[in-house]
Amino acid sequence: MTTAPIVVHAIINGQEAPTEKQYARQNPANPDEIVGYGPINTREEAIRAIDAAAAAFPSWAATPIEERVERMKRAIEKLKAATPELSKLLSREHGKALYDAEGEFGVSFMWMEYACNTVQDVLKDEVMEHPDGGKTIIAHDPLGVVSAITPWNYPISLSTIKVAPALLAGNTMVLKPSPFAPLAVSKAMKIIADEFPAGVLNLVHGEADVGVELTTNPKVAKIAFTGGTNTAKHIMRSAADTIKHMTLELGGNDAAIVLPDFDVNDERAMRRFVISNFLTGGQICMIAKRVYVHRSIYDKFVEKYIEAANKWIRVGDPFNPEVTIGAVNNPGQLKFVQELVEDAKKGGAEVIKLGRILDEEVFAKGYFLQPTLVLGAKYNDRIVVEEQFGPTVPILPYDDEEQAIALVNDSIYGLTSSVWGEEAHAVRVARRIEAGTTMINTAAVQGLDVRFPFGGVKQSGIGREYGREGLLTYTETHVINVPKMKELPYIPE
Ligand code: NAD
Repeated sequence: MTTAPIVVHAIINGQEAPTEKQYARQNPANPDEIVGYGPINTREEAIRAIDAAAAAFPSWAATPIEERVERMKRAIEKLKAATPELSKLLSREHGKALYDAEGEFGVSFMWMEYACNTVQDVLKDEVMEHPDGGKTIIAHDPLGVVSAITPWNYPISLSTIKVAPALLAGNTMVLKPSPFAPLAVSKAMKIIADEFPAGVLNLVHGEADVGVELTTNPKVAKIAFTGGTNTAKHIMRSAADTIKHMTLELGGNDAAIVLPDFDVNDERAMRRFVISNFLTGGQICMIAKRVYVHRSIYDKFVEKYIEAANKWIRVGDPFNPEVTIGAVNNPGQLKFVQELVEDAKKGGAEVIKLGRILDEEVFAKGYFLQPTLVLGAKYNDRIVVEEQFGPTVPILPYDDEEQAIALVNDSIYGLTSSVWGEEAHAVRVARRIEAGTTMINTAAVQGLDVRFPFGGVKQSGIGREYGREGLLTYTETHVINVPKMKELPYIPE
C-alpha cells in the first residue's frame, strides 16, 4: 500500500516548528516508497525546546495532580482514536507487521493508564509522626526538564512510557525519537502535546549534536534514555558536568535456560518459546537471544522447536494479516545480523532456515531476512556473546546447572532472562541469574506486567521504568522535617 509521504515537524512551546532541512524515511518492506519526512533540527532549535520546557515547568509543577491526570486521560482518548491510522503508519515506517504495531499501541495505553491510575497514590506525601508530637513529611517533588531519547524498535511505547510518568509527576519534557522510525511517534506526541499547556511536552529530531545539547544543557535535570549501551556511555560522559539524574534502559543479550524437566511436548510452551525469540523479527531488547538446553533433552527440544517455529513464522508484507514477521528496520541492522550468522557458519555452525516466506516478491525487494536457528555454535562465538537484535537465535547444549548459570552470567549484560522447566526448580535457578527480570516458562514481552519495575543490571542499564518505582524515578525525594526538639542536647551553649 503506497500513500503520499507525510511531513512531521518539531514541536516547540506548543507550536509545530517547520525546519528547512529534512530527511526521508523509507518503508523497509519497500525501500522505493518514501513514507514521510522528518526534520533535521539544529542545536539552536534544541535549545529553544529546552528553554520552552524550562519556562513551562514552574506553573506545570504547581498544577494540581488531578488536573494533570485529567489532561493525560484526554490525551490517551485522543491517541486511541488515532491508533488505527497511526498503527498503519508505524508499520510502514518501521517494517513490523501491522498486528505488532497495533500491539505496541496497546502496550502503551496499558502503561499510560496504569500511571494515571496510580500516580496520586505513589506520589502522596509520606508522613512520619514523632512520639513527641513532631513530624517528618517525605514529599516527591518533580525534577524539572526531562530529556527523553528513544530508539527505533518500539518508538511509541518507549516514548509514552517516559512521557506519562514524567508529566504526571509535574515535570516538563523534550523528547527526541530515532530517525529510523520518526513519523508515527511525532504524530502521537503532537496529539499528546495538544492536551497540555504550551512547553510542557516538546519534540525535536536530529543527529548527534541535538543529542549532545539534550544531555549537556544545564537546564535539563534528568535524562530518560532507551537505546544501545555504547550510546549510553557517550550520554553519561555528556551529562557528567551537570550531574543529571538518569534512567538508562540499554541493550541486552538475554539468555534462556531450558532445564531437563521442561516438557518438550508442550506445544503451547514451544510456541511461546519461538515468539520469545522472534517477535518483531527479534528486534526487541528483551528477546531471548541465546538458548541453553540441557543435553539430555537437546535433540528432542530442537526437533520440537523447529516444528513450532515452522508453524508460527510467516515472513512477508507487514500488511498481510497472515504475516507474523515483517522486515528488518534498516539495512545496517540487516547486514549486522547476516554477518553474525556468516561468522558462526564459518566457525562450523549449522544454520537452519525457519518458517515460510509468504510474499516472495515483497521479500526480494525489502530489507527482509528469513529467521534462522544456529546450532553447533561455540560458547564464545559472536552470535552467542553479542546482541544480535534480529531474526536469528543460537541454541546450545549444556551439561549441568552450574555450567548453565555460569554461561548466562558471563556477560556484560543483564536485562531479562528466562528459565523453562518445573516451576519450583526454575525459580531456584532464576534466583541465581544476574538480570533485572527473570521469567518462568515464558519470556520477552509475553511475560511483561506494567505493575513491575523493568530495567537491567550491569551494562544493561541503571534505574527502572514501569511500576511504582518507574514513577518515582521522575521525582526527587524532599524531606520536610518539623521536629518538636529543634536543637541537639549534646551541643554546648
Ligand atoms: P541507539 O543507541 O543507536 O539510539 C537510541 C537513541 O539515541 C536514538 O534516538 C539516537 O538518535 C540517539 N543518539 C545517538 N547518539 C546520541 C548521542 N551522542 N547523544 C544523545 N542521543 C544520541 O539505539 P537504537 O539502535 O535506536 O536501538 C537499539 C538498541 O536499544 C538495542 O541495543 C536495544 O537493546 C536497546 N533497547 C533497550 C531497551 C530497554 O528497555 N532496555 C528497549 C528497546 C531497545
